[in-house]
Amino acid sequence: KSLELVNIYEIFMEVYEMTDYFAKSKNINVSYKFSDQSISILSNRDYIKQIFLNLIDNAIKYTPENNNVYVEVYYDKNNLVIKVGDNGIGIPKEDINRIFERFYRVDKARSRDVGGTGLGLAIIKHIVKSLDGTINVKSELGQGSEFIITIPKKFP
Ligand code: ATP
Ligand code: MG
Repeated sequence: KSLELVNIYEIFMEVYEMTDYFAKSKNINVSYKFSDQSISILSNRDYIKQIFLNLIDNAIKYTPENNNVYVEVYYDKNNLVIKVGDNGIGIPKEDINRIFERFYRVDKARSRDVGGTGLGLAIIKHIVKSLDGTINVKSELGQGSEFIITIPKKFP
């Protein structure tokens, strides 16, 4: 995949608009904090967009009405850091290592009324790997989840 200079804020705003209707339908506020709106990285635009889209979609989907979702983006040394968090239903400890597998969904009963195939995180994991990055998750059942992605800055 060829690399291009990608403005992270710009892509996030596109995704923000794409997910706005969904968020509003549940009265979920999506807040965001960028260390710098001009933050850019040499990467692949579609990949970064997929990361935001899948994580924000999940955060809204697995969070009850009237709650909050947040996005944070900053640099840590030579890594771009993207955090997407929510105060939603959380992920049970016994499932946390499996959510990145294709088609894996935590407990069919709780996922039944929200659509999905269990592919979003598998796709993200694949993308992040191809960018030599990492993905981690912290979650507390009934409290919420936070996904943390780091992508190393590539130098031209
Ligand atoms: P798809 O993304 O294909 O529409 P999906 O959302 O079910 O379907 P993934 O995005 O791969 O699939 O997520 C896998 C599972 O991990 C979800 O079914 C859900 O059980 C759990 N999960 C993911 N994100 C969160 C979150 N923010 N809070 C709670 N559970 C989550
Ligand atoms: Mg998903």
